[in-house]
Amino acid sequence: MWRASVLTIFPDMFPGPLGTSLAGKALAAGTWALETIDIRNFGIGVHRTVDDTPAGGGPGMVMKADVLANAIDSVAADTRPRILLSPRGTPLTQARVKDLARGPGAILVCGRFEGVDERVIEARALEEISVGDYVLSGGEIAALVLMDACIRLLPGVMGHEASGQDESFSDGLLEYPQFTRPQVFEGRPIPEVLISGDHAKVAAWRREQAEKLTQSRRGDLWTAFSDRLGPAKKPPAKG
Ligand code: SAH
Repeated sequence: MWRASVLTIFPDMFPGPLGTSLAGKALAAGTWALETIDIRNFGIGVHRTVDDTPAGGGPGMVMKADVLANAIDSVAADTRPRILLSPRGTPLTQARVKDLARGPGAILVCGRFEGVDERVIEARALEEISVGDYVLSGGEIAALVLMDACIRLLPGVMGHEASGQDESFSDGLLEYPQFTRPQVFEGRPIPEVLISGDHAKVAAWRREQAEKLTQSRRGDLWTAFSDRLGPAKKPPAKG
């Protein structure tokens, strides 16, 4: 069973959207398990304080290292990666998601305020992961994003085992365009090749579309993809 332990001052946010749909069914079925640890329970004094003003001055508050360390230490020590959701972290990729989904689960620390005291990141060897180059108000939604991406890859969660294989990023390309009935929508027909019944042609068309899309929308992915193929197998540049 894939186990997520989430450290947060807002445990009510979980499972949130992951309690419905495929993830919710998988949670009920015991494919994955969720534990929330309320950081506030480790807060200091009658007010259960979890934050303090930043050393050196400046706006906002910083999550206290001692409080967070105690919260982290309350989670049974195991082999799961300890992750701090953080805009400064390594951007989350589908490769890392696959890697995490294959593992035992994750311990996810959700920051709030201006962030967390640097020393707890070091002292508890937290791996910082970002869900994108923008700033959220807290790590909770980022943790939900990471969990959702992992959970859908767990065996038996997606209706079709194969549907995880063809999609965006899995081979370094964005996914080809999808269509379904009706045959004509507001005067726009489904591309003929897709209703030809010729599987080889369909596969070739999809591949070509995926390459075109990746090249025009994501130069970064395209460069990495072409580099990986090596000069000999490089696909021809398309305009
Ligand atoms: N002052 C910080 C931002 C703090 S945002 C800075 O400039 O780096 C508060 C918390 O939200 C962070 O501690 C982190 O846990 C979470 N968070 C914000 N943006 C995020 C992102 N892009 N990815 C992952 N977590 C994020």
